[in-house]
Amino acid sequence: MWLGIDDTDSRKGMCTTYLAGDIIECLNNLGMDIIGMPRLVRLNPNIPWKTRGNGAIAIQFGKGSGKRKEIGYVNGKRYCYEKKVSDRGDAEKIIEEVDRIVRKRAMMESENTNPGLVILKKKPPYWLYKKAVRSIVGIEEVKSILDELDALYIPYKNGRGLIGASAATAWHPYDRTYEIITYRNGGRRWVDEESVKEMDKRFKKTFDNYDYVNHHVQITPNSPCPVMYGIRGDDEKELPEAMKSVVSEKIKRWLIFETNQGTDEHLQKKKIGDVKPYESVIVTGKVCSEPRTIEGGHVIFSLCDGEEIECAAYEPTKNFRALVRKLRKGDKITVYGGVRDEPRTINIEKMKIHSLAEIYEKKENPICKICGKHMKSMGKGKGYRCVKCGTTAKENDAVFEKVDRDIKTGFYEVPVVARRHLSKPLKRFKPSQGKY
Ligand SMILES: [Zn+2]
Repeated sequence: MWLGIDDTDSRKGMCTTYLAGDIIECLNNLGMDIIGMPRLVRLNPNIPWKTRGNGAIAIQFGKGSGKRKEIGYVNGKRYCYEKKVSDRGDAEKIIEEVDRIVRKRAMMESENTNPGLVILKKKPPYWLYKKAVRSIVGIEEVKSILDELDALYIPYKNGRGLIGASAATAWHPYDRTYEIITYRNGGRRWVDEESVKEMDKRFKKTFDNYDYVNHHVQITPNSPCPVMYGIRGDDEKELPEAMKSVVSEKIKRWLIFETNQGTDEHLQKKKIGDVKPYESVIVTGKVCSEPRTIEGGHVIFSLCDGEEIECAAYEPTKNFRALVRKLRKGDKITVYGGVRDEPRTINIEKMKIHSLAEIYEKKENPICKICGKHMKSMGKGKGYRCVKCGTTAKENDAVFEKVDRDIKTGFYEVPVVARRHLSKPLKRFKPSQGKY
C-alpha cells in the first residue's frame, strides 16, 4: 500500500518530511514494514499558493522481504525492505492513526496550509505526477482518480494537499537523487561552516552543499522548521558518512529520502509562442534585446525564436547576473527556467550559450579624404560631414573595431545559493549531455 501526504508545513514552522518520521514510526508500531525508501517528491515550483518547497511525501508499506536497509533514526533505528510480499494491514485503522498525527503536527492555523492524506493499494497513473511537477492539477481531477482507485483519503481544510499527496505516490524514479535530513532536538540550528566545506570536498557524489562564491552554507534551511540540515547526493551510501562528518548541534532524528530533486523533471522544451505561465521551460533562441538592470538589481533581456519573451536573472542569483549582463543581441542561447505570469518572464535557472554574435563598436568618426581630418556627426543615424570642406560620409564609413566578448560558449547555472530543489546541477550532467 502507498501513503501520500502533503502540505502540512507553513512558513512559520513544521516540515512534511518531519511528519514522515512520525508516520514511519506509527506504521512500524502497527506492525507494518516500510517497502523501499521513503520518497520526497518536489512538485511544480511555480505554483503561486505553495507553502514552501512544494515537497510531498510517499511511503510504501506492507509486509516486506529481501534485503533490509537502515533508513534513519526516529525513536529507534528504522529500516526499509527491498520487496513487498503483501499489502497486509488494515487501511482504515492506519489512516485513522495517521490522521491523529496530522491533526497534532500540521500547521492548521496557517491560511496556506491545506494538508491532504491518501492511502491506496494501487498507484495513481504516472501522468498525474508528470502534470503536477510541470503544470497545474485540479482537486476534482485528483478526487476522481482516487475514487476510481478505491483510495482512502482525507482532505484537510480546502484539501489542496490531496493533489501533492496523490502526485507523490504516482512518481516513478526514472531519475533519482537522495537526501539525508537531520532534525533538531528542540534546540537551535547551528552547523560548523568549515565541516560543511570539508564534507562537500570529501563526498564526491553530494551536491549543493556550499556556495564557495557567496560563502553560504546551503544545507541548512532558512525557515524555522525542525530541520537541522539536509545533504543531497547521487549515492545514498555516502550520505550517512557525510552526515557524521558535519559538526552541528545535537541531532534528534534523521531519515534518508529518495527524491526527484536535482532531476530537471519540472522542465519541458517549448517554442516561445507555446510558453504558459507557471510552467518551467527550456527554450532556444537569439538574444533580441540587450540585458538591462532594473530596480532591485534584476537583469532582464529578451529572447526571440520568431516570438519573443523576456528572461530574467533576479537579484538572488547574485554573480550569475554578471554573466547575463554580458549577453548581446544575436547570441544564440538556450534558457532553462520557471515562467512567471505577470510580467510574463522566464526566471533563469541554467543557460547554455551556443554561439556568440560578432559585435563591432565604433572606434572613431570617419576621416575626410580631402582634408585628412576627422569628420563630425550630423546626429544619430544621419551620417558625417567635414566641417572644413563639407564632404559627407555615411554612418558605416566610421572606423569600427571588433569587440572582445569576454564571455565563452558553454553551460552555466545559477550559484548554489539560488538553486531550486528540482534544478539538475551541472555536476549531475554527463559530458555527452553538453557540459563543456
Ligand atoms: Zn574635408
